[in-house]
Amino acid sequence: MNIVVCLKQVPGTTEVKINPETNTLIRQGIKNIINPFDSYALEEGVRLKEKFGGKVTAISMGPAQAVDMLKETISLGADEAVLLSDRAFAGADTWATAYTLAGAVRKMGQIDLIICGRQSTDGDTAQVGPEMAEMLGAAFTAYVCQIEEISAGQMRVKRMMDEGYEIIQSTLPAVITVTKEINIPRLPSLRGVMKSKSAKIPIWTLQDMGLDPKKVGLNGSFTRVVKIFTPQHDKKAEMIHGEPEIQVTCLLGKLREGGLA
Ligand SMILES: Cc1cc2nc3c(=O)[nH]c(=O)nc-3n(C[C@H](O)[C@H](O)[C@H](O)COP(=O)(O)OP(=O)(O)OC[C@H]3O[C@@H](n4cnc5c(N)ncnc54)[C@H](O)[C@@H]3O)c2cc1C
Repeated sequence: MNIVVCLKQVPGTTEVKINPETNTLIRQGIKNIINPFDSYALEEGVRLKEKFGGKVTAISMGPAQAVDMLKETISLGADEAVLLSDRAFAGADTWATAYTLAGAVRKMGQIDLIICGRQSTDGDTAQVGPEMAEMLGAAFTAYVCQIEEISAGQMRVKRMMDEGYEIIQSTLPAVITVTKEINIPRLPSLRGVMKSKSAKIPIWTLQDMGLDPKKVGLNGSFTRVVKIFTPQHDKKAEMIHGEPEIQVTCLLGKLREGGLA
Protein backbone atom coordinates (compact mmCIF):
# COMPACT_ATOMS: atom_id res chain seq x y z
CA MET A 1 0.00 0.00 0.00
CA ASN A 2 1.18 3.49 -0.77
CA ILE A 3 0.15 5.65 2.14
CA VAL A 4 0.51 9.40 2.66
CA VAL A 5 0.16 10.85 6.15
CA CYS A 6 -0.47 14.60 6.51
CA LEU A 7 1.02 16.19 9.59
CA LYS A 8 0.82 19.77 10.77
CA GLN A 9 3.27 21.44 13.12
CA VAL A 10 1.39 23.22 15.91
CA PRO A 11 2.38 25.21 19.01
CA GLY A 12 2.97 22.80 21.90
CA THR A 13 1.02 24.94 24.35
CA THR A 14 -2.54 25.98 25.08
CA GLU A 15 -1.31 29.41 26.21
CA VAL A 16 -1.10 30.84 22.71
CA LYS A 17 -0.66 34.63 22.53
CA ILE A 18 -2.00 36.68 19.65
CA ASN A 19 -0.48 39.77 18.07
CA PRO A 20 -3.45 42.19 18.12
CA GLU A 21 -2.01 44.28 15.25
CA THR A 22 -1.43 41.47 12.74
CA ASN A 23 -4.01 39.00 14.10
CA THR A 24 -1.45 36.21 13.92
CA LEU A 25 -0.06 33.84 16.53
CA ILE A 26 3.09 34.89 18.37
CA ARG A 27 5.28 31.87 17.70
CA GLN A 28 8.56 33.13 19.19
CA GLY A 29 9.72 31.09 22.16
CA ILE A 30 7.04 28.45 21.64
CA LYS A 31 8.10 24.87 21.03
CA ASN A 32 6.34 23.31 18.06
CA ILE A 33 5.09 19.74 18.16
CA ILE A 34 3.38 17.30 15.81
CA ASN A 35 -0.36 18.04 15.91
CA PRO A 36 -1.39 15.36 18.46
CA PHE A 37 -4.09 13.79 16.24
CA ASP A 38 -1.51 13.45 13.44
CA SER A 39 0.63 11.16 15.63
CA TYR A 40 -2.28 8.69 15.54
CA ALA A 41 -2.54 9.14 11.75
CA LEU A 42 1.16 8.33 11.38
CA GLU A 43 0.99 5.31 13.68
CA GLU A 44 -1.94 3.91 11.71
CA GLY A 45 -0.10 4.42 8.43
CA VAL A 46 2.97 2.61 9.78
CA ARG A 47 0.84 -0.27 11.14
CA LEU A 48 -0.87 -0.69 7.75
CA LYS A 49 2.50 -0.73 5.99
CA GLU A 50 3.75 -3.36 8.44
CA LYS A 51 0.67 -5.48 7.67
CA PHE A 52 0.31 -5.01 3.92
CA GLY A 53 3.77 -3.84 2.81
CA GLY A 54 4.36 -0.67 0.80
CA LYS A 55 5.49 2.76 1.85
CA VAL A 56 4.49 5.58 4.20
CA THR A 57 5.30 9.13 3.15
CA ALA A 58 4.80 11.94 5.66
CA ILE A 59 4.01 15.38 4.26
CA SER A 60 3.59 18.78 5.82
CA MET A 61 3.00 22.25 4.46
CA GLY A 62 4.78 24.79 6.57
CA PRO A 63 7.92 26.83 7.19
CA ALA A 64 11.48 25.41 6.96
CA GLN A 65 11.57 24.54 10.66
CA ALA A 66 8.95 21.81 10.02
CA VAL A 67 11.85 19.70 8.71
CA ASP A 68 12.60 18.72 12.32
CA MET A 69 9.07 17.43 12.78
CA LEU A 70 9.33 15.47 9.53
CA LYS A 71 12.63 13.92 10.67
CA GLU A 72 10.78 12.82 13.79
CA THR A 73 8.23 11.03 11.58
CA ILE A 74 11.10 8.95 10.14
CA SER A 75 12.10 7.92 13.67
CA LEU A 76 8.48 6.83 14.19
CA GLY A 77 8.35 4.60 11.12
CA ALA A 78 7.69 6.78 8.06
CA ASP A 79 9.81 5.71 5.08
CA GLU A 80 10.06 9.15 3.53
CA ALA A 81 9.00 12.69 4.34
CA VAL A 82 8.51 15.77 2.19
CA LEU A 83 8.11 19.38 3.25
CA LEU A 84 5.95 21.64 1.08
CA SER A 85 7.38 25.06 1.59
CA ASP A 86 7.35 28.23 -0.48
CA ARG A 87 6.77 31.90 0.32
CA ALA A 88 3.75 31.66 -1.96
CA PHE A 89 2.09 29.21 0.46
CA ALA A 90 2.06 31.74 3.33
CA GLY A 91 -1.33 32.86 4.66
CA ALA A 92 -3.17 29.82 3.27
CA ASP A 93 -6.65 29.13 4.59
CA THR A 94 -7.89 25.56 4.78
CA TRP A 95 -8.87 25.45 1.08
CA ALA A 96 -5.47 26.66 -0.14
CA THR A 97 -3.77 24.28 2.32
CA ALA A 98 -5.79 21.35 0.99
CA TYR A 99 -5.03 22.37 -2.62
CA THR A 100 -1.29 22.38 -1.87
CA LEU A 101 -1.36 19.05 -0.03
CA ALA A 102 -3.47 17.50 -2.82
CA GLY A 103 -0.90 18.79 -5.35
CA ALA A 104 1.85 16.92 -3.50
CA VAL A 105 -0.23 13.72 -3.44
CA ARG A 106 -0.82 13.99 -7.21
CA LYS A 107 2.90 14.44 -7.81
CA MET A 108 3.56 11.20 -5.92
CA GLY A 109 1.52 9.14 -8.41
CA GLN A 110 -0.46 6.10 -7.31
CA ILE A 111 -1.51 6.57 -3.67
CA ASP A 112 -3.98 4.19 -1.98
CA LEU A 113 -4.69 5.95 1.27
CA ILE A 114 -4.23 9.44 2.71
CA ILE A 115 -4.48 9.70 6.48
CA CYS A 116 -5.03 12.97 8.37
CA GLY A 117 -5.71 13.74 12.00
CA ARG A 118 -9.34 14.56 12.87
CA GLN A 119 -8.39 18.23 13.34
CA SER A 120 -5.50 20.46 14.25
CA THR A 121 -5.16 21.83 17.77
CA ASP A 122 -4.58 25.39 16.55
CA GLY A 123 -6.72 26.00 13.43
CA ASP A 124 -9.18 23.39 14.71
CA THR A 125 -11.44 23.45 11.65
CA ALA A 126 -11.28 19.75 10.62
CA GLN A 127 -11.71 20.96 7.03
CA VAL A 128 -8.41 20.04 5.38
CA GLY A 129 -9.04 16.26 5.11
CA PRO A 130 -12.48 16.48 3.46
CA GLU A 131 -11.37 19.30 1.16
CA MET A 132 -8.40 17.25 -0.01
CA ALA A 133 -10.62 14.24 -0.73
CA GLU A 134 -12.89 16.43 -2.84
CA MET A 135 -9.95 17.84 -4.79
CA LEU A 136 -8.48 14.37 -5.40
CA GLY A 137 -11.83 12.79 -6.25
CA ALA A 138 -11.20 10.22 -3.50
CA ALA A 139 -13.64 8.63 -1.05
CA PHE A 140 -13.73 10.31 2.37
CA THR A 141 -14.53 9.14 5.89
CA ALA A 142 -14.07 11.28 9.02
CA TYR A 143 -13.53 10.31 12.68
CA VAL A 144 -12.23 6.82 11.88
CA CYS A 145 -11.48 4.90 15.10
CA GLN A 146 -10.73 1.50 13.54
CA ILE A 147 -9.73 0.15 10.15
CA GLU A 148 -11.53 -3.18 10.01
CA GLU A 149 -10.43 -4.51 6.64
CA ILE A 150 -8.65 -3.56 3.46
CA SER A 151 -8.84 -5.82 0.42
CA ALA A 152 -9.45 -5.78 -3.33
CA GLY A 153 -9.41 -1.99 -3.62
CA GLN A 154 -11.94 -1.55 -0.81
CA MET A 155 -11.71 -0.59 2.83
CA ARG A 156 -14.10 -1.03 5.74
CA VAL A 157 -13.75 1.34 8.67
CA LYS A 158 -15.52 2.10 11.93
CA ARG A 159 -16.20 5.78 12.54
CA MET A 160 -17.24 7.55 15.71
CA MET A 161 -20.55 9.33 15.83
CA ASP A 162 -22.01 11.44 18.63
CA GLU A 163 -23.98 8.46 19.90
CA GLY A 164 -22.51 5.26 18.55
CA TYR A 165 -20.54 4.09 15.56
CA GLU A 166 -20.96 3.68 11.81
CA ILE A 167 -19.30 1.01 9.67
CA ILE A 168 -18.40 2.46 6.28
CA GLN A 169 -17.27 0.55 3.23
CA SER A 170 -15.49 2.65 0.62
CA THR A 171 -13.30 2.34 -2.41
CA LEU A 172 -9.60 3.14 -2.55
CA PRO A 173 -7.99 5.59 -3.01
CA ALA A 174 -9.48 7.18 0.06
CA VAL A 175 -8.85 9.97 2.51
CA ILE A 176 -9.63 9.35 6.19
CA THR A 177 -9.30 11.48 9.31
CA VAL A 178 -8.62 9.56 12.49
CA THR A 179 -9.44 9.94 16.18
CA LYS A 180 -7.15 9.11 19.09
CA GLU A 181 -9.11 5.93 19.82
CA ILE A 182 -7.60 4.27 16.71
CA ASN A 183 -4.28 3.20 18.28
CA ILE A 184 -1.56 3.99 20.79
CA PRO A 185 1.32 5.70 18.98
CA ARG A 186 4.70 4.06 19.47
CA LEU A 187 7.82 5.73 20.82
CA PRO A 188 10.74 6.23 18.43
CA SER A 189 13.00 3.19 18.10
CA LEU A 190 16.78 3.54 18.38
CA ARG A 191 17.10 2.38 14.77
CA GLY A 192 14.48 4.93 13.76
CA VAL A 193 16.29 7.74 15.56
CA MET A 194 19.55 6.82 13.80
CA LYS A 195 17.75 6.71 10.46
CA SER A 196 16.09 10.08 11.07
CA LYS A 197 19.40 11.76 11.83
CA SER A 198 20.74 11.07 8.34
CA ALA A 199 17.38 11.39 6.56
CA LYS A 200 17.18 13.98 3.79
CA ILE A 201 13.86 15.80 3.71
CA PRO A 202 13.19 17.18 0.23
CA ILE A 203 11.43 20.54 0.01
CA TRP A 204 8.85 20.90 -2.74
CA THR A 205 7.94 24.37 -3.92
CA LEU A 206 5.05 25.76 -5.94
CA GLN A 207 7.02 25.19 -9.12
CA ASP A 208 8.04 21.63 -8.20
CA MET A 209 4.39 20.68 -7.86
CA GLY A 210 3.25 22.66 -10.89
CA LEU A 211 0.54 24.39 -8.85
CA ASP A 212 -1.48 27.41 -9.91
CA PRO A 213 -0.05 30.45 -8.03
CA LYS A 214 -3.56 31.91 -7.86
CA LYS A 215 -4.76 28.92 -5.82
CA VAL A 216 -2.12 28.81 -3.07
CA GLY A 217 -1.39 30.88 0.03
CA LEU A 218 -3.23 34.11 0.67
CA ASN A 219 -3.98 34.50 -3.08
CA GLY A 220 -5.85 31.20 -3.15
CA SER A 221 -7.70 31.72 0.14
CA PHE A 222 -11.42 32.38 0.04
CA THR A 223 -11.36 33.35 3.72
CA ARG A 224 -9.39 35.90 5.75
CA VAL A 225 -8.93 36.17 9.51
CA VAL A 226 -10.51 39.55 10.25
CA LYS A 227 -10.06 39.39 13.98
CA ILE A 228 -8.63 36.88 16.39
CA PHE A 229 -8.84 37.25 20.16
CA THR A 230 -8.80 35.39 23.44
CA PRO A 231 -12.27 35.46 24.99
CA GLN A 232 -12.50 37.34 28.28
CA HIS A 233 -14.00 35.31 31.09
CA ASP A 234 -15.48 37.76 33.59
CA LYS A 235 -17.06 35.16 35.84
CA LYS A 236 -17.34 36.23 39.49
CA ALA A 237 -17.49 33.69 42.27
CA GLU A 238 -19.14 34.56 45.53
CA MET A 239 -19.07 32.29 48.56
CA ILE A 240 -22.28 32.05 50.56
CA HIS A 241 -21.58 31.26 54.18
CA GLY A 242 -23.79 30.32 57.11
CA GLU A 243 -26.22 27.58 58.04
CA PRO A 244 -27.66 25.56 55.10
CA GLU A 245 -31.09 27.26 55.40
CA ILE A 246 -29.53 30.71 55.30
CA GLN A 247 -27.38 29.68 52.33
CA VAL A 248 -30.45 28.42 50.42
CA THR A 249 -32.47 31.57 51.15
CA CYS A 250 -29.57 33.76 50.13
CA LEU A 251 -28.96 31.75 46.94
CA LEU A 252 -32.64 31.88 45.97
CA GLY A 253 -32.65 35.65 46.54
CA LYS A 254 -29.70 36.07 44.23
CA LEU A 255 -31.23 33.83 41.54
CA ARG A 256 -34.48 35.87 41.72
CA GLU A 257 -32.50 39.10 41.49
CA GLY A 258 -30.90 37.77 38.30
CA GLY A 259 -34.30 36.64 36.95
CA LEU A 260 -33.19 33.01 37.13
CA ALA A 261 -35.75 31.77 39.65
C1 LIG B 1 -10.70 31.70 7.99
C2 LIG B 1 -9.27 31.27 8.16
C3 LIG B 1 -8.24 32.07 7.69
C4 LIG B 1 -6.91 31.73 7.92
N1 LIG B 1 -5.93 32.56 7.51
C5 LIG B 1 -4.68 32.27 7.79
C6 LIG B 1 -3.66 33.14 7.47
O1 LIG B 1 -3.92 34.23 6.95
N2 LIG B 1 -2.38 32.78 7.75
C7 LIG B 1 -2.10 31.57 8.33
O2 LIG B 1 -0.93 31.26 8.56
N3 LIG B 1 -3.05 30.72 8.65
C8 LIG B 1 -4.32 31.04 8.41
N4 LIG B 1 -5.30 30.20 8.78
C9 LIG B 1 -4.93 28.95 9.36
C10 LIG B 1 -4.72 27.94 8.26
O3 LIG B 1 -5.73 27.99 7.32
C11 LIG B 1 -4.80 26.58 8.85
O4 LIG B 1 -3.78 26.44 9.79
C12 LIG B 1 -4.61 25.50 7.81
O5 LIG B 1 -5.38 25.72 6.69
C13 LIG B 1 -5.01 24.16 8.37
O6 LIG B 1 -6.31 24.23 8.87
P1 LIG B 1 -6.58 23.66 10.30
O7 LIG B 1 -5.45 24.05 11.17
O8 LIG B 1 -7.95 24.06 10.71
O9 LIG B 1 -6.50 22.11 10.05
P2 LIG B 1 -7.59 20.97 10.19
O10 LIG B 1 -8.46 20.96 9.00
O11 LIG B 1 -8.24 21.04 11.54
O12 LIG B 1 -6.59 19.75 10.13
C14 LIG B 1 -7.02 18.42 9.85
C15 LIG B 1 -5.86 17.61 9.42
O13 LIG B 1 -5.37 18.08 8.17
C16 LIG B 1 -3.96 17.93 8.11
N5 LIG B 1 -3.31 19.25 7.96
C17 LIG B 1 -3.82 20.47 8.26
N6 LIG B 1 -2.92 21.44 7.97
C18 LIG B 1 -1.83 20.81 7.48
C19 LIG B 1 -0.57 21.25 7.01
N7 LIG B 1 -0.23 22.55 6.97
N8 LIG B 1 0.32 20.32 6.58
C20 LIG B 1 -0.01 18.99 6.60
N9 LIG B 1 -1.18 18.51 7.04
C21 LIG B 1 -2.07 19.41 7.47
C22 LIG B 1 -3.53 17.25 9.41
O14 LIG B 1 -3.56 15.87 9.22
C23 LIG B 1 -4.65 17.67 10.36
O15 LIG B 1 -4.82 16.81 11.45
C24 LIG B 1 -6.61 30.52 8.56
C25 LIG B 1 -7.66 29.70 8.99
C26 LIG B 1 -8.97 30.06 8.80
C27 LIG B 1 -10.09 29.17 9.29
